[in-house]
Amino acid sequence: CSASGRAVEVVREFEEGCSTSIGRLRQVVDAMAVEMNAGLASEGGSKLKMLLTFIDSLPDGKEMGTYYSIDLGATSLRVLRVELGGTRSMILRHQVESQPILPYLMTGTAEELFDFIAMTLQNFVEKVEGLEHTSDLRRELAFTFSFPVRQISVSSGILIRWTKGFAIEDAIGKDVARCLEEAMSKRGLNMRVTALVNDTVGSLALGHYHDEDAVAAVVIGTGTNACYVERTEAIIKSQGLLTNSGGMVINMEWGSFWSSHLPRTSYDISLDDESPNQNDQGFEKMISGMYLGDIVRRVLHRIAQESDIFGDAARCLAVPFMLRTPLMAAMHEDDSPDLREVARILRGNLDIQDIPLRARRIVVRVCDIVTRRAAMLAAAGIVGILKKIGRDGSDGVSTGRTESKSRRTVIAMEGGLYVSYGLFREYLNEALVEILGEEIAQNVVLRTCEDGSGIGAALLAASLSSNQ
Ligand code: ADP
Repeated sequence: CSASGRAVEVVREFEEGCSTSIGRLRQVVDAMAVEMNAGLASEGGSKLKMLLTFIDSLPDGKEMGTYYSIDLGATSLRVLRVELGGTRSMILRHQVESQPILPYLMTGTAEELFDFIAMTLQNFVEKVEGLEHTSDLRRELAFTFSFPVRQISVSSGILIRWTKGFAIEDAIGKDVARCLEEAMSKRGLNMRVTALVNDTVGSLALGHYHDEDAVAAVVIGTGTNACYVERTEAIIKSQGLLTNSGGMVINMEWGSFWSSHLPRTSYDISLDDESPNQNDQGFEKMISGMYLGDIVRRVLHRIAQESDIFGDAARCLAVPFMLRTPLMAAMHEDDSPDLREVARILRGNLDIQDIPLRARRIVVRVCDIVTRRAAMLAAAGIVGILKKIGRDGSDGVSTGRTESKSRRTVIAMEGGLYVSYGLFREYLNEALVEILGEEIAQNVVLRTCEDGSGIGAALLAASLSSNQ
């Protein structure tokens, strides 16, 4: 009927708008490399902040001792204790505990948030140390804080702004490591923040601990970000920056990358318009877990308005964030012949009853378009980093050297979306081969680092305290 014809047309238009042809992906790769240069050249030179981390060497396996780490994510607070054995990949023991971040903490005051973190940590320390617990002992703590921070040193940094749904005004402009130390000392918890790191930096640290060819890390969870090792001489905006290794990890804050080559649709525009951080985190809004489900919801809502395939019970589709990304992924990955899981989720979560199979197929199609685009763009971003550091194969072509062609490059990967969404991972890998070509892609290894940000941060605390 013409109504369902209209539904198909809406999907077709959307698909066209999301087009990620190889030509377009290459333009995104180039734009990423250009913006990286611009962000390194001057402060504010690009939407990519390219933040200094003051991490100039990565764990090499010699780290020893017991370290704590806390990882403030967008959905949970994780506390860890890691015992290191002094040889590569020798983590003797690691204990983790996770607490959900309740919404009131995300929009309350800095004091409430940091007190909650200190309290969670204190309970954890008392539990894992048991009778050994002694308040006299000063413990070393790594703080994984995954929001844009202007670092002053490896252990301190000023919050620039919030992302991923956090909005605690009075924390902006403050040194978050000091805020945490104050909250800990109020509770009599004797701990020092040895390393303040972004989650990507923690992932890279763990990636490097296991494999010395790791040079970059990408996190794709609620939000998305990447970091990599840059030569200090290329960091033009910090002239005179000297490090022992001649390099420094740069936190790209790639979620805010933007290029006119990104395939943007009217749904992306309205999502951005209605977001609290309008005109910001443009790349993240096309790629990460906070948003993918909502892009799908927006397209389904349009279909419901223009056709009758969802019947008249589609009111839930009008509600922002009603369709969360893990549910969208579950619909996308439903391989039952009658798409039973799709029907169950539409019924249970969106109050859309008894929709015919052809409508369920349309839902899966929309999920596929959104996820495919996200994975393709993430892959283009990764190749952009490879290009910047001369590992994308183009270097050998232009200079006649073939060395970069055969050099192994490891990228540490982390984040709930990447780890738990198989089709997303498949598309991402396919796109890497498509952009790089098989020969070069063979030398690019994506290595999943579960709990990387927390354990990696503890490793950094260990390597930093042994260097002092
Ligand atoms: P953070 O919230 O700190 O980013 P994670 O890295 O664990 O923590 O990422 C959690 C996010 O990953 C969720 O908000 C969700 O968007 C996404 N996610 C989790 N599980 C799945 C899944 N099965 N399929 C798709 N996305 C998922």
